[in-house]
Amino acid sequence: MSTNTLPMRRRVLDAQLLSSIIDYLPMPIFMKDENSAFVLSNRRHAEMVGKIEEELLGNTTNVLMPQDEADKSRERDLPVLLKGEENISRRDYTFKDGRAIYNETRKARLFDSEGNAFVLGVSIDLSEQRQRESHLRAITDSVPVGVIEVVQGQGAIYANELALAYTQLDRSENPLDQILAKLSHQQPDFPGEKQKFEVTVAGEGAAGKRLLVRSSGWITIPYKAERAAVVSLTDLSEVAELRRENDEINRLNGELQDKLKQLREAQNELVAKGRLEQLGHLTATIAHELRNPLGAVSTSAFLLQRKLQAQNPGTEAQFARVANGVKRCNDIITQLLDFARVRKLDMKPVAVDDWLGGVVAEECRKLSNALNVLCDLQLGDATVAMDSARMSRAVINVLHNAAEALTGKAGQAAEVETADPTIAITSRLTDRGCEIVITDNGPGMTEEVLTRIREPLFTTKNFGTGLGVPAVEKILEQHQGGVDIASEHGKGSTFTLWWPRKAAA
Ligand code: ADP
Ligand code: MG
Repeated sequence: MSTNTLPMRRRVLDAQLLSSIIDYLPMPIFMKDENSAFVLSNRRHAEMVGKIEEELLGNTTNVLMPQDEADKSRERDLPVLLKGEENISRRDYTFKDGRAIYNETRKARLFDSEGNAFVLGVSIDLSEQRQRESHLRAITDSVPVGVIEVVQGQGAIYANELALAYTQLDRSENPLDQILAKLSHQQPDFPGEKQKFEVTVAGEGAAGKRLLVRSSGWITIPYKAERAAVVSLTDLSEVAELRRENDEINRLNGELQDKLKQLREAQNELVAKGRLEQLGHLTATIAHELRNPLGAVSTSAFLLQRKLQAQNPGTEAQFARVANGVKRCNDIITQLLDFARVRKLDMKPVAVDDWLGGVVAEECRKLSNALNVLCDLQLGDATVAMDSARMSRAVINVLHNAAEALTGKAGQAAEVETADPTIAITSRLTDRGCEIVITDNGPGMTEEVLTRIREPLFTTKNFGTGLGVPAVEKILEQHQGGVDIASEHGKGSTFTLWWPRKAAA
């Protein structure tokens, strides 16, 4: 079988046959001689330019386009003819029948057997590829990361707006030449190797931007001849800011705990000396001092969240932590103020049941769904003299204590689990005046807790302030009433707030 397996040779084809093949090819093909005169135009090319082959043969591009364009075309042909350089040009092209495409024409030099040089032109319709690319780029422009496309041997060929903004480059200054250099100073294999690194991009005047740079490394793009890499940029400055916020909240919380400890010490001393008034002032000062930085932190956390959340999935947990920290600080401050407020009461006749129903409904929305809240309001339209804003604080404090005894504090479960946790709220009129009774079926209190519960700063909770019950008591005393506390360990607790109907401030 040896003589039959000579290497296959291309047979010299009959000219007629060859020209039919060329006509049959689905892409426009043409050939020009050294004078730029057409010597070939296949069917598809003729269709494209809207002339039959006979009209073209022997003529230059002049018959197809205005003189100046024809001159340019000739200029592009020269290096191909003289030096054999390949020339690729891309442009929008409208067929004579009105069909528009994005056309790429590649020109190359060919010789015939006598050594005459020709320009061969082959066109490819890139419309679909361009559409796919512009679709991809539209997607790229909508993502919250900087994206750069790099082609092997050509450098960056595309960067989305964010990539330019992050690297502080402007569309007008041909930024694609600089963009990689701005990112890659110490990365020799960038972006050809798959990699991930952080870099600070210096800006004019502005502080540098911290970026996380990721490169896919060279990958083969299915519909392209070249290999390309996708580089993404994530702005770390804002994430870093979020981290700082979180630290600040933690610091504030720490400071709060310290201040509370100081308060506790001062309290012992002041209580011992019978100087409760002074304790109130001290508490108020601390609360105000803390409220300002807390406000600043929580505003900037809120703004940051709005900015970051959509872009950085994964930061939710951090925001939740910030929000929790802020809430805890706020709760403590509110309690400090409830306790410390010395302002005169603003007494007005109030329809107690209406008001109480409102306060309970509002608070219930913030409490755990597992809680049953029962209301038995017996006053009807009867009015009672009170400062409703302050009395709301008293009721809320008692409600919170009950809820915490039943289902725990935010982020901290109750010590004892209560089956069917229930808070019952009753309003009624008695000989001594108006009474609000709040009962829970929680764990109740030991003898020791019960005897100390009215002490300012006494708490059994990890993040307790020990100011709730004293605040409640103070508010009722200001109303010339008081608080009865009853509890049976293991069964539950009852707080009865009472004050005379005609109480004066
Ligand atoms: P805090 O709630 O910050 O601990 P409070 O003055 O509001 O301070 O309450 C003091 C303590 O009284 C609580 O730590 C808790 O031990 C006890 N206490 C208050 N209300 C209840 C209740 N409904 N059930 C059980 N214990 C309670
Ligand atoms: Mg409390």
